[in-house]
Amino acid sequence: MGTFLHIDMNNFYASVECICDPSLRGLPVAVAGSPEKRHGVVLAKNEIAKAYGVKTGDTVAEAAAKAPGIVFVPPRFDKYDKISKKMFGICNRYTCFVEPFGPDECWLDCTQTIKLFGGGKAIADELRSRVKDELGITASVGVSFTKLFAKLGSDMKKPDATTVITENDFREKVWGLGVAELCGVGRHTEEKLHKINVYTIGELARSDERVIKKLLGKPGVDLRKAANGEECGEVREAITSREVKSVSHGLTALRDLVTREDIVTLICYLSELVAARLRKYGFKASGIYLGIRYTDLTRNGKQLALPFPICSADDIADNARLLLDEIHDGRPLRSVDVATFALSDACAPVQLSMFDERKHAETDEKFDRAIESLRLRYGKGCVMRASQINNDIYTDKDVGDFLPFKR
Ligand SMILES: [Mg+2]
Repeated sequence: MGTFLHIDMNNFYASVECICDPSLRGLPVAVAGSPEKRHGVVLAKNEIAKAYGVKTGDTVAEAAAKAPGIVFVPPRFDKYDKISKKMFGICNRYTCFVEPFGPDECWLDCTQTIKLFGGGKAIADELRSRVKDELGITASVGVSFTKLFAKLGSDMKKPDATTVITENDFREKVWGLGVAELCGVGRHTEEKLHKINVYTIGELARSDERVIKKLLGKPGVDLRKAANGEECGEVREAITSREVKSVSHGLTALRDLVTREDIVTLICYLSELVAARLRKYGFKASGIYLGIRYTDLTRNGKQLALPFPICSADDIADNARLLLDEIHDGRPLRSVDVATFALSDACAPVQLSMFDERKHAETDEKFDRAIESLRLRYGKGCVMRASQINNDIYTDKDVGDFLPFKR
């Protein structure tokens, strides 16, 4: 039986802001895009703001109405990235099996190291106090015999707490929770499960496997297993978790994206980030996905198989724009994801087209590489798209060598 931990730093962005500026202590604080404008959006909030009912995704105006005296600060992603890497580093002291699941959370497989550190709970408590002492941020940690129960555990007590879920008590601790609490049950899956009267994790665990299979296919069967504590997901070693299956970037805009031009500006930016990462890994992609989220938080998305692999920012953006026209109903958006998949070695031979698309693609790739080498020499801001100058849609964060997070 394995010992898995999941650590989640509490109110990550807001916590970082509060340690950087002690004058914020004791005040309700929210990290928000364009706070000077009423339509900015709350990206994170501290415990005090949370107590007032402020939620991620609230507009600045809504948050201000809920929490009098709330202080809004703009996001500083470069800072968050640094602290996030430090946390992964601290985790690595306890095992080499550390798998990030976002900037502020990751799994650890401590199966082989529990003897060294005196058990799963001991590691969890020590990990929390190390993170608190060294980074100044509280964290919640779940300890369990499966990855998904460990993740559930880190959600159960916040802030600054350890929750242990064992083979003996998981039924009491976990089965009463809503089925959507289980990592992997998205809104779509949740709705389907509700239709067959499965509302809790326990009801999923005790459901008829054949019915679940018919309803959700193999992923559903896996979720049902997970609900029974029979999931055997592994925590990938840091080095193997770099085995990339898809490369994506997504961003919640600093303000609502109202016009098509707004959306395309963000798509172009995300496409550049994706293209840069594809080149870095030496990949081309034969599939592209665009995901959008409206201001009411409903989502839509679509993927597209491409006739030949691409890796230039322009090609990615062009295809994402095609997808946008198919799925967007014209309402304002809050966030956009651009993903590429079906990756192949950039040097692999490619079936040539009878038409001239390839030539154009090669020119684009050369162009991208030229811009990249300029940026390497003269800094990131030396060349940029006209649409990126003075935009109020995103803050250009310096995306370091982050592991490709699942989104
Ligand atoms: Mg967190």
